[in-house]
Amino acid sequence: MGAEADAYDEALRAAASHARAWLHQLPDRRVPPKATADDVRARALDLLTEPPVDAAQVVDELAALAGPGLMAINSGRFFGWVMGGVLPAALGADWLVSSWDQNTGMRAATPGVAGIEEAAGEWLLHLLGLPAGSAVGFSTGATTANTSCLAAGRNAVLAGAGWDVEENGLAEGPRIRVLVGEDSHASVHLALRYLGLGRPERVAVDDQGRLRTDALALALEDAPPGAPTLVCLQAGNLHSGAFDPLGEAADLAHRHGAWVHVDGAFGLWAAAAPRLRHLVAGLDRADSWATDAHKTLNVPYDCGVAVVHDPAPMRAALGVRTSYLLSTDVADPLDVTVEMSRRARGVPVWAALRSLGEDGVAALVERLVDNARALADGLASLDGARVLNDVVYTQVCVSFGSDERTAAVIADGTAWMSGSRWAGRAVLRVSVSNWSTDRADVEASLDAVRRAVAAVDGRRRGTAAQTAP
Ligand SMILES: *Cc1c(COP(=O)(O)O)cnc(C)c1O
Repeated sequence: MGAEADAYDEALRAAASHARAWLHQLPDRRVPPKATADDVRARALDLLTEPPVDAAQVVDELAALAGPGLMAINSGRFFGWVMGGVLPAALGADWLVSSWDQNTGMRAATPGVAGIEEAAGEWLLHLLGLPAGSAVGFSTGATTANTSCLAAGRNAVLAGAGWDVEENGLAEGPRIRVLVGEDSHASVHLALRYLGLGRPERVAVDDQGRLRTDALALALEDAPPGAPTLVCLQAGNLHSGAFDPLGEAADLAHRHGAWVHVDGAFGLWAAAAPRLRHLVAGLDRADSWATDAHKTLNVPYDCGVAVVHDPAPMRAALGVRTSYLLSTDVADPLDVTVEMSRRARGVPVWAALRSLGEDGVAALVERLVDNARALADGLASLDGARVLNDVVYTQVCVSFGSDERTAAVIADGTAWMSGSRWAGRAVLRVSVSNWSTDRADVEASLDAVRRAVAAVDGRRRGTAAQTAP
């Protein structure tokens, strides 16, 4: 036993030392990686052919291997996609989760972590203004959360049409109509594919990407009453940050007997902030909601959350009952997630909520939005730049004139922002999701874009001079 304990100590000491080195250099580090995946893979494969080494040395090798290829996603100057950083309490909790090694499927088997997850889930319902008593499943991300919620919806709308999909499958059953906004996230489409529901019907959106309720009304009227229908709404558009008119659309869909699901991977958190809550008015009138804890809440990867108002269809769709499991009348974690075996990924969520407090969660979300507005204002003041979206939340899309000029503006590594296309134009897309981003990060990032614009214009002038007669 002594030798094992020593091996753990040494491995953890090495891990703590490398983790601290990484975290401490984040404030000054360039954001993008230097090495490519191909570089790292070649060296990683080489090491696998060498004789084994002790645990601490393995950890040292990993730090050396991955180091040059790490993207500083948890830097305050990382604004790519929608990702988020790591709150200290959540990181500490995550280390414990791995040490405890609890397979969090059954309450009776792993009560220490199942109880913490249940408390985190109940508190999330409170913070996000969702109905008490809803089922909560901690999944790997919003994609599996969307899948979990829509599996419950699939069960419910087919049961309404007299069809037991868990027993009979989809093939001979009634067709399910699925309506999504034209600007819905690819993850919803993926979830629908997993569930055998194919390509959804797309409903028109307005200039911010918000679902138009007049278009939804027309689409709903286009089917016989009672036709099994799923309507997927969005809280937080990837480009504009905009929110579908949730309450109005939910009421409309319910009048047609549809199941209403909300993909709120990062946008659902507006509900936790008094200043932003109006964006999600009527949110609680949907049937299911998917969100991420690894984005806005800043827990380490990976953690999504699936919430379903009526636990019955969720358990019918995802629950497991076999002789070798410890079954009770109360839903087990494995009854509300697509996984059977999994880590206690809800524990870091509890830690994040505990360390922030209710007001701290609100302040976190509001700070992200304030930083997005400061970035938008700074970007708009650059020569030829225009912010294309209404900055209501954490997302900013900026154009620098022509698509060609916009695509050429790439910040120099001081900050990371991804290019994209939105509203038919090339854009530089800024997503503010990190708890640690401060005013200095915002200023340094604006300076980086300013330099990038100047460099692009300098190159263009150079090219123009060369080609001039
Ligand atoms: C990120 C995101 C998803 C997918 O979430 P994962 O955690 O990557 O699975 C779904 N919808 C929206 C709006 C998102 O921003």
